[in-house]
Amino acid sequence: MVAVAWAALGLGLGPGPVLGPTAAGARVVLVGVDGGSWSVIDPLIAEGALPHLAAIARRGVTAELATVEPLISPVVWTSIATGRSPEAHGISDFMKTGLDRRVPTIFERLAARGRRVGLYEYLLTWPARELPEGFVVPGWLRRDERVTPASLAAKVAYRYDLRGLRNREEYRENAREEIARKAGQWNRLAEDHDLEVGAVTFYAVDALSHRYWNEPAVIRETVLGVDGAIGEIVEALGPEDTILVASDHGFQAGSRRRVWSGTLEGALSDAGLVPMRDAFTILGQFGVVVLRVNAGPFAEREALLERLRAVLEGASDAAGEPVFTVDVLDEAERPPGAQRGILTRLRQWGLRRFARWRFNAHFDPDAHAYVIAQFEGDVLEGLLPDGEIRFGGKRHAMRDLISADEFTGDHHPTAIFLAAGRGVRAVPERGALSVLDVAPLIAALAGEPVPDDVEGRVPEEWLTAEFLAAHPVRRVAASAWPELPTLAETELPVDDADLLERLRTMGYVR
Ligand SMILES: [Zn+2]
Repeated sequence: MVAVAWAALGLGLGPGPVLGPTAAGARVVLVGVDGGSWSVIDPLIAEGALPHLAAIARRGVTAELATVEPLISPVVWTSIATGRSPEAHGISDFMKTGLDRRVPTIFERLAARGRRVGLYEYLLTWPARELPEGFVVPGWLRRDERVTPASLAAKVAYRYDLRGLRNREEYRENAREEIARKAGQWNRLAEDHDLEVGAVTFYAVDALSHRYWNEPAVIRETVLGVDGAIGEIVEALGPEDTILVASDHGFQAGSRRRVWSGTLEGALSDAGLVPMRDAFTILGQFGVVVLRVNAGPFAEREALLERLRAVLEGASDAAGEPVFTVDVLDEAERPPGAQRGILTRLRQWGLRRFARWRFNAHFDPDAHAYVIAQFEGDVLEGLLPDGEIRFGGKRHAMRDLISADEFTGDHHPTAIFLAAGRGVRAVPERGALSVLDVAPLIAALAGEPVPDDVEGRVPEEWLTAEFLAAHPVRRVAASAWPELPTLAETELPVDDADLLERLRTMGYVR
């Protein structure tokens, strides 16, 4: 019913009268390489091992791409897509979704101008927005499998997924699959939609650089694979098209450390606690398990919260040693008689401060509460490699619930940038660019104006005189830019906070 209402709103879009005509025809494609680093790529280009990246560099420009803090994928990819700093766009951590983004992306804006725009596994694009004549296939931080248009679902044969990977060999296999399948899938989607502007992101380099940094042969194989995939994408483009390649951060050696992650969906469901069906969501299971209990009737939500807490606190090894340290962060106002004691409130305060300082984690006050389960490393080490965990009254193989990773690589603040094709000069010297400059550059290369709330600048010195003469870089008021429709909460035929919260969670309403 809600989806029907959405469609019934119609998409009365197209170029706004104050913005002038658009320049159609050519394609502008951003290929994201999460974790791509010049420290790895330059030596491989020098030995001739990356023919496709080398060709883009030779035909166009390369730059050290200055990134933004914190150096984590959802934050930086959102700055790349919006041209805005994290303070402005509001995506601070891995728990956020597209619903938390406060400003539009350049992709949404170009779609609102009538351009055919497609996004394939770009972060953060869940929940998928309707882009007129375009498509959105959300990236790996998605909470469900929906795509837009819904009819596209049957045509998307490949999606990158980290859920359920239990060891680094499985991460390696997963990376190989992305390298083998993603470019072809992207090319089919782009062709089917006669795409004008789009983005596709590869995550293999990041996933394996964390885990195999001290095994250069694996990093090499992965970067060579991504280079081949970029070659497939370039091959499908014409001479009038432009390709941009960017990463969100580089990589460097880090201290060797254990990282635990959970795959608790199945065991929670076995215990009668089904994410999304019941009023909670799993926000994260990497490094720490974070569950969000949705806002709603206090007593009901409190009972759910206590069941979740109990099942996690009860998870133990055979000797009864707990495998999690469980905390609750209250958000809903607690009625008289349900107040927490001073020690509990102090512990919650300390945990919030720690989460903010250490992980830049911001908890939304519009939840009922959060459950935070930290892995008990000492107990879990004793269970490796194939111990058992008691969870929700059942015995599970540890590897089905919790996996052990070892990290040797860390993010580095210098990312990569390359561009070539229509409008881009060949510049042999490596330049400097900010992640905030990518969105305005995409707009300019698409022959579109740049909204004046974008913080970055268009590097006009890299554009050809011919292109600039035909498409002078223009700044226009963001307030005059057409917007994609969203469903306002007031248009919903509900006044039930719980249903509204579920719709929000499902992405139907902001
Ligand atoms: Zn990473």
